[in-house]
Amino acid sequence: MNDMILLKQGEVVLKGLNRRSFEMKLMANIRRRLRGLGEFRVYTVQSTIYVEPESDACDMDEAFERLKKVFGIISLSRAMACGKEPDAIVAAAAEYLGEAMEEAKSFKVETRRADKSFPMTSIQVSQYVGGELADRFPDTKVDVHEPELTVHVEIRDYSAYVHGPAVRGAGGMPVGSNGRAVTLLSGGIDSPVSSYMIAKRGVQLIPVHFFSFPYTSELAKEKVLDLAKILTDWCGRLTVEIVPFTHIQEEIRSKCPEELFTLIMRRFMMRISQKIADSNGCSALVTGENLGQVASQTMQAMAVTEECVSLPVLRPLVGMDKREIIAIARDIGTFDTSILPYEDCCTVFTPRHPRTKPNLAEILEAEAALDVDALVDEALKNTERVKIQP
Ligand code: ATP
Ligand code: MG
Repeated sequence: MNDMILLKQGEVVLKGLNRRSFEMKLMANIRRRLRGLGEFRVYTVQSTIYVEPESDACDMDEAFERLKKVFGIISLSRAMACGKEPDAIVAAAAEYLGEAMEEAKSFKVETRRADKSFPMTSIQVSQYVGGELADRFPDTKVDVHEPELTVHVEIRDYSAYVHGPAVRGAGGMPVGSNGRAVTLLSGGIDSPVSSYMIAKRGVQLIPVHFFSFPYTSELAKEKVLDLAKILTDWCGRLTVEIVPFTHIQEEIRSKCPEELFTLIMRRFMMRISQKIADSNGCSALVTGENLGQVASQTMQAMAVTEECVSLPVLRPLVGMDKREIIAIARDIGTFDTSILPYEDCCTVFTPRHPRTKPNLAEILEAEAALDVDALVDEALKNTERVKIQP
């Protein structure tokens, strides 16, 4: 138990009156994400969150890795416990931060004293430890104004702590602090990234996948569940709604003009997603659409697609380049799964000449051949829900 983790909160601290509820949400998310790694004490002091193992059985390395993916944290560091004698602190700092001290051109020591009965003041501790470190690392100068490296020392009741170098956290806001949304999750590269981006803004997601068995295989469904599993590292547990889409697609294919197929299909996706959103208290729909990427992603096509729903449609990738999207997909770990070669329902009946500048009147006229409400209800009735744990 000579190690603990310190977390710096991100935008949460800016939230004024909501701050406390954001903080509670973040701590609850942290506790949930540490499940299975041992007993931890999680508490906050002045916008730093402390994660302390309650026994030596806690897996601190894995805890640190998991916490790197919790939204609402901008930086993480580990801290090593040592004796409270000044020389023990110096020795611990020299050992724990030796490499960082060698690399930095300048440093300072900053001390916090929770044990107010400690015989030295914070400033005295900083001066002493700083002086000793300066002797041991002669190439690293003391600079109290703009140091490259700050060595944090904390004097607590039972021991002192020296903080290790900070690493970047996931940023964003705690999942659940900003409402809920339905995210349309295909097996492609884009929608896992759009889901991640909206989750990062503190939104709890309900992924919906449209499944066209047997035109798309069980493997295609497994792939989407695998992607959802990767996303749980970031979002926490998810329940994926698998909507049977085959009958709807067959109806459109047999009764509507071929060049409108994709657009009419996408309108069904939106309607069904909105119904799922309504019954789960969601306030928006999220898609991985990207301006101009394919025929159904022109501005006119987007207008027609969202005309049949009233919830806002969030498209976080709309202005990004493919390579920017791919960079994020690689970062968050979804890319390798996304490029596995299984069909998506969108590619099953792709028209040879899809309409890129549709007008609503022709779409409505084509849809008049279908019993839209009955098809939507039937799909919802047969929707399967799959729970995914991190
Ligand atoms: P992606 O890489 O996310 O599949 P894409 O570039 O292939 O996107 P489209 O196939 O036109 O683009 O789909 C646009 C968006 O519609 C997707 O990003 C996703 O949000 C949603 N979508 C497409 N197919 C499905 C599906 N089978 N189930 C759920 N959502 C889907
Ligand atoms: Mg796709």
